[in-house]
Amino acid sequence: MKCYDDPKREAVGVCTRCGKAVCPEDAVVINGKLYCKECAKKVMDEEKHPKKLYRSRTDRMIAGVCGGLAKYFNIDSTIVRIIFVLLIFIPRVGFWFTFLLYILLWLIIPEENLL
Ligand SMILES: [Zn+2]
Ligand SMILES: [Zn+2]
Repeated sequence: MKCYDDPKREAVGVCTRCGKAVCPEDAVVINGKLYCKECAKKVMDEEKHPKKLYRSRTDRMIAGVCGGLAKYFNIDSTIVRIIFVLLIFIPRVGFWFTFLLYILLWLIIPEENLL
């Protein structure tokens, strides 16, 4: 097995996360697991910043609530928006329920910080 980024090097193992073969130079061990350089960076990032719910600044139509929820649950923000639109059509209470839910999320979810 050869390293993914250098066919001249022999790999010592495969990355736990992406499954690429890595040579000793690219291999990073975190908590006893082997990662390639790219995945090691992501894993360390995730440990430093645990997943939190934020309103998106980049993916927003009103207040970034849908974009933020989408990011948190790892789904497309369009799907979240469709869900919100469908909620509006709940007989009788739909509009106010959705409206209040959105306002509530707007108030309680902090806005994401762009560094
Ligand atoms: Zn990897
Ligand atoms: Zn390599």
